[in-house]
Amino acid sequence: MLWQGRRESENVEDDRGSGGGGRRLVLGGGVGSVVIAVIYLLLGGDPRALMQSSPQAGGPAEVQRDPNAPKDDQSRFVAVVLADTEDVWGSIFQQMGRKYEQPKLVLFSDEIQSGCGAAGAEMGPFYCPRDHRVYIDLNFYRDLQNKYGAPGDFAQAYVIAHEVGHHVQNLLGTSQKMEAARGRVDQTEYNRLSVRLELQADFYAGVWAHYTDKMKHVLEKGDLEEALNAATAIGDDTLQRKARGRVIPDSFTHGTSEQRARWFRKGYETGDIRQGDTFSARDL
Ligand SMILES: [Zn+2]
Repeated sequence: MLWQGRRESENVEDDRGSGGGGRRLVLGGGVGSVVIAVIYLLLGGDPRALMQSSPQAGGPAEVQRDPNAPKDDQSRFVAVVLADTEDVWGSIFQQMGRKYEQPKLVLFSDEIQSGCGAAGAEMGPFYCPRDHRVYIDLNFYRDLQNKYGAPGDFAQAYVIAHEVGHHVQNLLGTSQKMEAARGRVDQTEYNRLSVRLELQADFYAGVWAHYTDKMKHVLEKGDLEEALNAATAIGDDTLQRKARGRVIPDSFTHGTSEQRARWFRKGYETGDIRQGDTFSARDL
């Protein structure tokens, strides 16, 4: 994916190294700040940002996130992809006569207090409908490559586009219908609905890829395959087979590898959100 030098979204909130949930470090100068700088570095933060905001002299001070702190390549990449989702969904919503309300994206390390409760990195990236935020610990990308065998920048972009797909569902009222179903149906039926919701988010990620390429010509050879490979790698059947050696279809919540790749591809090929009604589709 051609991403260097392109517009970066201003909706990225960098909470890495803040100890989770945006809790701020309180410190004095001198030895204390060196120790904390080392801890901060271990957490993946940029110690220069911390040093710059350290007090010149005197008592404890609050360390704020520095918006001018140098950004690393990964967070810049995420910001570019998020900007692409803003452009694509902004224009699709406009065509529908609606206004697209942009989500925030929070980078965190290890754990975070989200509007949907406390979350750990092991949960993987997620979207919280209550606070309209996508949460991602960038270490997930290391797992995506090494653990799930899905390398490549477009695989990473797909993950963000999928989460933003959940935001689109939230704005369109689909997530609310899901919530309403929660108390009415048994677990197996709820899982079936969840699969439809997740496959639609994959479809929306495909729609995003379609328009991003059409509007900006930024897809490179092999990008589509990277996304399809990622969608395949995180299918329920594949994950369960890997983890337990067997597959329990009733417990699926995201869809099989084949279904995930199929709906992403359908979104990519049609670019038409009306084709993405996974809830009425007879065959997934
Ligand atoms: Zn999802």
